Amino acid sequence: MHKSKQITTELIHSGKSINQQIGHAVNPPLVRASTVIFNDMASWREVRERRNHEQIFSYGARGTPTTFALEDAITHLEQGYRTRLYPTGLAAIAMVFVAYLSPGDHILISDSCYLPVRSLAEEYLKKHNISYDFFPANASGIETLIQANTRMIYMEAPGSFLYEMLDLPGLSLITKKHNILLVADNTWGSGLLYQPLTLGADISIMAATKYLGGHSDVMMGTVCTTEACWQLLNKTSDTFGMTVSPDDAWLVLRGIRSLHARLDMHQRNATAVIQWLSQQPLVEHIFSPTLTHDPSHTLWQRDCSGSNGLLSFTLKTVLNQKDMDTFLDAFTLFQLGSSWGGYESLISMAELKSIRTKTHAKNSQIIRLHVGLEAAEDLISDLEQAFQTLETEPY
Ligand SMILES: *Cc1c(COP(=O)(O)O)cnc(C)c1O
Repeated sequence: MHKSKQITTELIHSGKSINQQIGHAVNPPLVRASTVIFNDMASWREVRERRNHEQIFSYGARGTPTTFALEDAITHLEQGYRTRLYPTGLAAIAMVFVAYLSPGDHILISDSCYLPVRSLAEEYLKKHNISYDFFPANASGIETLIQANTRMIYMEAPGSFLYEMLDLPGLSLITKKHNILLVADNTWGSGLLYQPLTLGADISIMAATKYLGGHSDVMMGTVCTTEACWQLLNKTSDTFGMTVSPDDAWLVLRGIRSLHARLDMHQRNATAVIQWLSQQPLVEHIFSPTLTHDPSHTLWQRDCSGSNGLLSFTLKTVLNQKDMDTFLDAFTLFQLGSSWGGYESLISMAELKSIRTKTHAKNSQIIRLHVGLEAAEDLISDLEQAFQTLETEPY
């Protein structure tokens, strides 16, 4: 009897349906293709009839066995109906807007969204007569913002930079009542830590560029939907010629085999860093839903199965640019870089007022760490020596 497996097991074994030989490699082959050839007209016709509804090899732009394998693995991870792949996480978000929103529609966007989504709103939505409003990162009062033409709620939890959770199951009751699509950016959760589709979202988007790829060497976005939402996304993506390179898909497929092990270690190292930071008199606040006093802790505990390498903090003093530069330049293992999700540690800084419109903090200088897979004690030594540059300043 077939017994359903844990997602962590599926991560290792799913997405290999093309292995049909008697003996075969552990990993699915990399198939590069534009043209696909057929034995006879009947097969050609059959494939063309089936390809709008089925994952079937008909032309490079419509997917290859390698990209199909990755789609299947993501569908397992997200527990959805089917998945499409895009050249970047941002392209995935843009395609969701293009596919589901029409002129005259209204969309509510979480204040905690990935920053370039704001440019998508300002530059694409506005031009196409699609109106938008931002809602607070914890979704408080969101029902009062819903209009007769609201078609989509676009959320991100935990949110970018400050990791606010929101009550997705609660929100989905509201969206179902008003017949609104609930779309979640699941890049933080990467499918393993958080599963928007099982909690009530209609569409889940991930930047595979981050933890799924996991090695800072590939860009990709994924969109997984429920069965009801699938066809519109699938059709629009074909209409726009959306596809990814099989080489990139192969890299992501390789990356996800170790997703579980990497996230475990990212979380362990981040916990050690949080512990160290929480003992520093110069640190004002640490943002992480794993902290018991964090306003998102209860929801994180309820809806997430773990955490990752991300955390942010503020200092008790606002630094001028020179001192901030000295501080950030002092790090040697935490390298300056604004993305995250690879195996390496990164540090970056953002002014809260330039990334949010509805969120306020006492100190607006948010320092974000992505804690990588280095030894925790080395990372803490790096923090110790960088923090010494702060102590020599005469505050
Ligand atoms: C990085 C990121 C994206 C965009 O991914 P790209 O592949 O860089 O375009 C989208 N959402 C979140 C939350 C991200 O962190």
